Amino acid sequence: MELICSHEKCTGCQACRMACPKHCISMKEDDKGNIYPAVDQTLCIDCRRCQKVCPSLNPPVFSKQPLKVYAGWVKDKKARKYSTSGGISYVLSKHFLEKKDVFCGALWTNDGAVHKLSSDIADIKKYQGSKYSHSDVKDCYKEIREELKLGRHVLFTGTPCQVAALRKYLNKEYENLFTVDIICHGVPSRRILRDRIKDIEQEHGKKVVEMRFRDKQPDQLHTCCKYIFEDGTFVLHEYSKDFFSRSFVDNYALRENCFNCNYSRIQRVSDITMADFWGYQPKSLKFIKYELGVSIIIVNSEKGERLIDMVKDSIVYEERDYHECINRNMYKPQLKPDDYDLYWTDYERGNIPKSEIQRKYLTSPTPFLTTWKYEMRKFVNAFFPENFMNKVRAILKIIRKIR
Ligand SMILES: Cc1cc2nc3c(=O)[nH]c(=O)nc-3n(C[C@H](O)[C@H](O)[C@H](O)COP(=O)(O)OP(=O)(O)OC[C@H]3O[C@@H](n4cnc5c(N)ncnc54)[C@H](O)[C@@H]3O)c2cc1C
Ligand code: SF4
Ligand code: SF4
Ligand code: SF4
Repeated sequence: MELICSHEKCTGCQACRMACPKHCISMKEDDKGNIYPAVDQTLCIDCRRCQKVCPSLNPPVFSKQPLKVYAGWVKDKKARKYSTSGGISYVLSKHFLEKKDVFCGALWTNDGAVHKLSSDIADIKKYQGSKYSHSDVKDCYKEIREELKLGRHVLFTGTPCQVAALRKYLNKEYENLFTVDIICHGVPSRRILRDRIKDIEQEHGKKVVEMRFRDKQPDQLHTCCKYIFEDGTFVLHEYSKDFFSRSFVDNYALRENCFNCNYSRIQRVSDITMADFWGYQPKSLKFIKYELGVSIIIVNSEKGERLIDMVKDSIVYEERDYHECINRNMYKPQLKPDDYDLYWTDYERGNIPKSEIQRKYLTSPTPFLTTWKYEMRKFVNAFFPENFMNKVRAILKIIRKIR
């Protein structure tokens, strides 16, 4: 076996590596910083087990239409603020960790984002927050299988391709396994993030120990990339101007296969799908405080309904129609920029300053608030109570309805 599946399709999920009976597959990073399986030909017995478990070669079973769609967030304000969106993932992990069941999700390490299992509630904070980077699943699927066989309840959260890989690897349905995926823009190269961190470290002369992507600022108006140093200090870079974040949202940093993503669809591979509820408009004053982060919660299975039932007392939620979820990544994959290869040629040459690459390629209008809107909202928030504008908007909407 030389090539398990093409780079255009390979998600780097590692199901093949974990399934190989001869342990002759290892993951190797390419020049762009993306991991792919490499087979040691001297040990391979050509059994093709790797290809049988590969979710890119054998598409998984998808759910049909969503059973229910909710807008919601965690009631605990601190937890919501520390989460990237509405903190639904936080309440679900809390439920499992508090009962000493097993939770598996992405956390930040010196080696970037990795997936890990835990049964310790003390770990909960590490899982909070989206790590906008390809998370290395290490041996998690194997470890999950062991836990499932012992009869323990396991909750796995990850990208849809990781959930599909886990299910292919397990090769049977377990009643005690629960899965949650995200609506996924794609995962950016681990190399660009690593290089960005090195640049920040050089600039400030100290080591970065953690990153918070889309960190919610105290005024709740803007999201920032937060680089946290070993001495506890940090720097904030406005998301729309940060080299790494721009390369991600403008798609230059994405893995090749994300442009052919098989999971950008309404039918899902998990019990629950979470995402940001972009364009959310509250229907009543109870839901007015949505600017702290609001999630879409898509229930795809009966197990998903059970999950929501388990945490319903800890969340604020209302049923919505899925047509209201304006989330492009639910319908089609991101587009590969025409000059993607040119960006990478420049990047890999290494002798062009990042500012020059940014000027040359990362020029599309920022998808976030434009500067003048941001400044205006900052002004309003400085002089009026929290959520003043939300209340004005909701009242106007109600008046319009009455008229
Ligand atoms: C790479 C990536 C791309 C995304 N793209 C979109 C998008 O296009 N549109 C959209 O609406 N939402 C997207 N999301 C989801 C969004 O950022 C929130 O994670 C989601 O709305 C849930 O929010 P939350 O507040 O409940 O959880 P969060 O606080 O965001 O917690 C994140 C949960 O996701 C898991 N996770 C974190 N990082 C990773 C990772 N790198 N790989 C796999 N799992 C991870 C953690 O285990 C944790 O359980 C993306 C998330 C990631 C990680
Ligand atoms: S063909 Fe079999 S032995 Fe060879 S890499 Fe694949 S799983 Fe391993
Ligand atoms: S199983 Fe995953 S890592 Fe292996 S070839 Fe298929 S997609 Fe790539
Ligand atoms: S865009 Fe698709 S292929 Fe890429 S990480 Fe997300 S789910 Fe996986």
